[in-house]
Amino acid sequence: MLKCKGLVALSSDLLDGELSLKQRIAVRTHLAMCVHCRRFIRQLRVSQRVIRHLPDEQAPELEALLRAMQAQQKQGSNTGSGDSAK
Ligand SMILES: [Zn+2]
Repeated sequence: MLKCKGLVALSSDLLDGELSLKQRIAVRTHLAMCVHCRRFIRQLRVSQRVIRHLPDEQAPELEALLRAMQAQQKQGSNTGSGDSAK
């Protein structure tokens, strides 16, 4: 079963539409159960849309923000049973 950490790891591929069918199902199942990740993905989507519509020189700042969000999410979900999430 996919955990929050795993979902965060897949999130950029998810937004790029590069997940396998199996991964997509795992992500959807997790999102159906986890309000935190739903919010996280929604924020990512919004950020990505914003980045795409910005001129290049403004993108790095937002990308850094996006990365910080991902790092934060990783930390927040790091209270589980070790590193066996796969
Ligand atoms: Zn989650």
